[in-house]
Amino acid sequence: MSFPPSAEPLADVKRVLGVFAHPDDVDFGGGGTVARWVTGGIEVAYLIVTRGDAGGFDNTPREQMPVLRESEQRAAAAELGVRDVTFLDGYLDGRLTPTIELRRDIARVLRRVRPDRVLTSSPLRRWERIAGPSHPDHLAVGEATTCAVYPDARNEFAFPELLAEGLEPWVVREIWYQAGPKPDHVVDVTDTFPAKLAALHRHTTQTSHMDVEPMLRERMALTAKAGGLPEGRLAEAFTIIRTE
Ligand SMILES: [Zn+2]
Repeated sequence: MSFPPSAEPLADVKRVLGVFAHPDDVDFGGGGTVARWVTGGIEVAYLIVTRGDAGGFDNTPREQMPVLRESEQRAAAAELGVRDVTFLDGYLDGRLTPTIELRRDIARVLRRVRPDRVLTSSPLRRWERIAGPSHPDHLAVGEATTCAVYPDARNEFAFPELLAEGLEPWVVREIWYQAGPKPDHVVDVTDTFPAKLAALHRHTTQTSHMDVEPMLRERMALTAKAGGLPEGRLAEAFTIIRTE
């Protein structure tokens, strides 16, 4: 199973919602692209399903981890110009599955934010690289978000409790998947790379023990080259699916 070729991105997007499993997911895979959207006048909001309570690398007391990671993600979002950051309660890092409850909770935020475009993790596994991108939580959030886009957010008879909360149905027109197999839509983020790097440095509990800049430069230069961009450029890559 793989994605079809990407659709052309919509030209009239006003709002984007990024839906991710953990603090730092959006910054590693799509931070440069988010910064470009914000610079271009698009409003971006995030929905983060867990507070990354299973993250970290040192002896930071475990009960502090979710608190630290929430504040790190809010600071990282601010580096890219994103101010609307919602965290769900009741979901634990490492234990996500695309449940009906998770679909409803994502659909609730879709109906509130009313995005034209959703950015999320790929629900399809990259078999050539099991670690990192294909974390089971990422796959689960990609699947639950896709179900929330269709049919949950747009069907007035799905989750009647949302309508009772005053949340009208909403049609998301496009999904951008991050970190999936063979992404074919390449975004030149050379100009926003410093903002992406600043955002990643905000995730101290995750990145302070590694030198992220050379690692990212190497990976993003390869992505740029594969996408046919000129020498010296840096890129992020996605799969775009129309969902109208
Ligand atoms: Zn993650």
